[in-house]
Amino acid sequence: MLAINKINKQALIEYEDFLFMYVEEEEAFDSEKIFYVDAIIINSSETSLFEKVLRVTRTHYDAEIYLKPIFCVQYEGLPLQVIERCDGLTDVTQYQKIARTTREIKQHIDKLFLQQKFPSNEFGVLYKMMQYLYTRNHDLEPFVDRHARLSYTYPFVSLQLEDEEQNKILEILKQGVRDGFLREEKMLDKIHVCDTCHSAHHNIRETCLHCNGIDLKVQDLIHHFQCAYIGPETDFMQEYTDDLICPKCQKILRHIGVDYDKPSHIFNCNTCSEHFQNPVFTYNCVDCGKVSDIRHLQEHLIKKISLTAKGKQLVLSGLPKKNYESQGSNKEITGVYELSVFKNILQQEKARTRFNPGRTFFGKVTVVDAQLNSISWKEKMVLRDELAGELKSYLKDYDKVTAVSAGEFYFLKLESTEEKIAKLEELIVFNLEALVKSNVKDSQVVVSVEIQAVFHDQTVEF
Ligand SMILES: [Zn+2]
Ligand SMILES: [Zn+2]
Ligand SMILES: [Zn+2]
Repeated sequence: MLAINKINKQALIEYEDFLFMYVEEEEAFDSEKIFYVDAIIINSSETSLFEKVLRVTRTHYDAEIYLKPIFCVQYEGLPLQVIERCDGLTDVTQYQKIARTTREIKQHIDKLFLQQKFPSNEFGVLYKMMQYLYTRNHDLEPFVDRHARLSYTYPFVSLQLEDEEQNKILEILKQGVRDGFLREEKMLDKIHVCDTCHSAHHNIRETCLHCNGIDLKVQDLIHHFQCAYIGPETDFMQEYTDDLICPKCQKILRHIGVDYDKPSHIFNCNTCSEHFQNPVFTYNCVDCGKVSDIRHLQEHLIKKISLTAKGKQLVLSGLPKKNYESQGSNKEITGVYELSVFKNILQQEKARTRFNPGRTFFGKVTVVDAQLNSISWKEKMVLRDELAGELKSYLKDYDKVTAVSAGEFYFLKLESTEEKIAKLEELIVFNLEALVKSNVKDSQVVVSVEIQAVFHDQTVEF
């Protein structure tokens, strides 16, 4: 209770058996005190204050904090992206409703298995999102948002990833559906994102198929029935009169539908002067500036998502120990290290090459296979460990290996020569490809190996 006494009393409201933090301005928001309160109430019309409170809480590592109930005081014009991400609206005198919601959320949080370790960052995001859905007892409903890279914000989830990584949300949700933890509900929209930066913000333009110019003029084509002449409207126009006169038979065109019709239109390019009927459509990405045919945009379906019984079960009982402790199984193979340890060893090794140059080699192994997307994260973890073990088996006892994912490995080969390295490369490619093919259905795996000598004064890129 001592800690609570230290909190500025003015910012706290006691109601029933709850303590609410009441935030009106950014300077007064003290993130260190969130732990002691049962819920946060934000009374402001400033979107930036909501952004700050939501970011600080929802990205915290402690489930008690990232799942903390947050309410907003009703203001006219409070944007949807704020309201949808909070746990409800209130007014400054009525705390009954929010006390009830807080109680429900807290009861749900109490039932959760508080998982701390996850097999990957992406799985961590999925897991936390499932906890959020379980404790809120409603579906995940993305809402349209002009500030979001995907044009859609997913409550809770969008905050877990940086702006440039927002497209990962779609992959994470798909993986959750494939694993049976989530279910896709109603389709809300389709988005089309840039194939380079995954932004849904772009301008679409009619473009000249000859020179890629966008300065086009469209005009009607005119078909004169009597003489069957067809040409652009400008061919029929006159300098001194508004009459349309046929350039072929010199007759005046009077009634559309009787004398003539307009069967189509034609584009004139003001850049290269070409005429054509069907332009191509290109997009100009607002975020990265890429210009490309719209066929290269990637289409994604925006759907409402719900938690399945299997998903609920997972957040209540946690991950089976052997799955999330796959880091542990790495340690069983001597010489396979976690990335941070590997980087330290590499630094030491670099220093050593000053006195023993040309005999230390750094290798990167990449495993690319579209079929890896069809296997579950658990299988991916198992495969990752098997590949790391396989890789290590072609190296000496004192060589080092690290596995970043099932698709990315690094190794450090000591006391070797260029000739031995070339042979090693072939051996790794052949055997790792064979291992993936025997484990992944319809695999079209390609393994590539890049090896470079390590020198003390050279930086090594990961
Ligand atoms: Zn004519
Ligand atoms: Zn052109
Ligand atoms: Zn882009």
